[in-house]
Amino acid sequence: MDAEYDVVIVGGGAAGLSAAIYTTRAQMKTLIVEQLAPGGQILNTSDIENYPGFPDGVLGPDIGTAIHRQAEKTGTEFAFDQVIELKVDGDVKVVVGEEREYTAKTIIITTGGEHNKLEVPGEDEFAGRGVTYCATCDGNFFKGQDTVVVGGGDAAIDEGMYLSRIVNSLTIVHRRDELRATKVLQDRAYSTENVSFKLSHAVKEIRGNGQVDRVLLEDLKTGEEFEYPTSGVFIYIGFHPNSSFLQGTVTLDPGGHVITDIRMETDKPGVFAAGDVRQYSDRQLGTSVGDGITAALSAYRYITEG
Ligand code: NAP
Repeated sequence: MDAEYDVVIVGGGAAGLSAAIYTTRAQMKTLIVEQLAPGGQILNTSDIENYPGFPDGVLGPDIGTAIHRQAEKTGTEFAFDQVIELKVDGDVKVVVGEEREYTAKTIIITTGGEHNKLEVPGEDEFAGRGVTYCATCDGNFFKGQDTVVVGGGDAAIDEGMYLSRIVNSLTIVHRRDELRATKVLQDRAYSTENVSFKLSHAVKEIRGNGQVDRVLLEDLKTGEEFEYPTSGVFIYIGFHPNSSFLQGTVTLDPGGHVITDIRMETDKPGVFAAGDVRQYSDRQLGTSVGDGITAALSAYRYITEG
């Protein structure tokens, strides 16, 4: 059986679209299978000020739409389908969708992931107006201000340390009386002058007037509730990659991220992963674009060099 496509890309975010621009320009017949509209997380991001080439910043939907248009222009085909399984053991690999099956010589997995949400009042209302899930992306918008980080894991403390160099003050709110983060990160946080802690506390509500200006905290030991002023709420309570359809196909880490080598290849030959779904992704637009390009070039080499 011949494969219908040289490459099927599962997921049409920045990584998938960037991969497709490269595979199509290398004359590889390329299909992106996407369950919703292509563009991914950047469509829900307003100002992006750290993507090289845009000194005045760029709106997420603008750059998302532009990358999509570029992928269309280079000849990418699109299918709207929910992928439920991959069959990757033969030379011809099969992407199983709810609507139909797609066959390919190579597969690139770029299904991204989602930040866990606190699920408290105000979180959605103030998203992009004080509530954020990425200090590396948004920290600079809070220069000299008072901010809160929610969570006690490595991501909360690591990104909190980044943020502490930009903001006036940072309060780490964590639900237990000890942090989960590794000792070295904890030590760094405890010895940083403008960082303070509200341990055994929970954010019950995010409040403001157009922009966040305070949170409602609960002291979980006493049950006391009180308002706490802040301009920014950085939420780091975990991230889940969209990889449940990969169980038993390629090797995942305990957090469900796809394990790849430096060329974005998984442990199954001809199957690559790029962007936020892969282990150790830096979860930036620029790194997702770079991952996608690397995966595309690896797929090209796999097909042409065998
Ligand atoms: P994590 O280690 O699972 O930590 C999540 C944190 O959020 C925990 O402190 C947890 O509290 C808290 N939490 C979870 N649900 C919550 C809720 N509903 N309300 C309030 N708090 C909640 O996740 P992560 O920090 O994103 O890290 C994920 C993985 O990436 C880890 O393996 C980590 O080591 C790795 N990582 C490493 C680095 C680094 O080494 N520099 C940086 C980033 C990530 P509890 O502690 O009470 O469960």
